[in-house]
Amino acid sequence: MLNRGTDKYRVKPGRKLRLARCPTDVPKLYRNEQDAEAQQARQVARTSELQDVLYASDHYSLLLIFQAMDAAGKDGAIKHVLTGVNPLGCQVSSFKQPSSEELDHDFLWRTTVRLPERGRIGIFNRSYYEEVLVVRVHPQFLAAQRLPGEGVDSRDFWEGRMRSIRDHETHLHRNGTRVVKFFLHVSNEEQRKRFIDRIDHPDKNWKFSLGDVEERGYWNEYMRAYEQALSATSTKESPWYVIPADDKKNARLLVSQVVNQTLESLDLKYPKLDRARLAELKAARQLLE
Ligand code: ATP
Ligand code: MG
Repeated sequence: MLNRGTDKYRVKPGRKLRLARCPTDVPKLYRNEQDAEAQQARQVARTSELQDVLYASDHYSLLLIFQAMDAAGKDGAIKHVLTGVNPLGCQVSSFKQPSSEELDHDFLWRTTVRLPERGRIGIFNRSYYEEVLVVRVHPQFLAAQRLPGEGVDSRDFWEGRMRSIRDHETHLHRNGTRVVKFFLHVSNEEQRKRFIDRIDHPDKNWKFSLGDVEERGYWNEYMRAYEQALSATSTKESPWYVIPADDKKNARLLVSQVVNQTLESLDLKYPKLDRARLAELKAARQLLE
């Protein structure tokens, strides 16, 4: 899975991540718009081929998790990275504020039922990581979860949650689900520009929310929560990638590269038929002739 191009964005297990040291803007992988499109199309074509074998071989599934601050480009990245991939082989799920039914379960319940089936690619647009991000920044959300015991919102409490996540992902890995996680890393200034852009362009107004601007006030708290969560949950099996996201096209190319490398590392093969099955095919062909 290691690759010189994207490996520098992988969060190394056991090391304390400092987001201030991770770039949000890097030299572009493309020469111009046209080149970016051509490269993206090639990457997606490769994803599509790999997805076909993933489906046919029916042993593994791939779970791609996207987390980011608002306006970082999650939706666009998901759209572009999967455009052209057989929709029957992909399942995208978005997770917003939990419903009362969801709150009545443990925090891994609502995402668990959305995990990809064997042979498929599942995409989580936000995920159980919200439980150690937005909920950590706003611990008052915990009240609605009616958790037993004391020490809710203590350091141990959050560490316990991150351990639950690690254990969950280890379990998934053992059972054939490969989990890869992307943090689309935009700068505070780039987010500000994108919000203004949403206000200035009528066709983008629908994306604007005053709540998002208020949430910007908690930027540093979010960065701290991301640092803690990513440091504690980036493992060899289920790595986090901090993708520089001030340039959307570049970010999408990087995400596609990681997706393709991950699928390639599975060394997928179309299933080989046994003798009996080959004889069956031969007989069927004769019948059709
Ligand atoms: P977009 O704005 O691009 O449409 P979004 O993912 O930001 O997509 P919104 O409806 O704007 O969707 O926001 C969903 C909100 O729900 C986010 O602020 C997120 O932090 C919040 N959320 C998600 N999961 C949880 C959770 N488990 N507990 C509390 N809040 C959550
Ligand atoms: Mg939003």
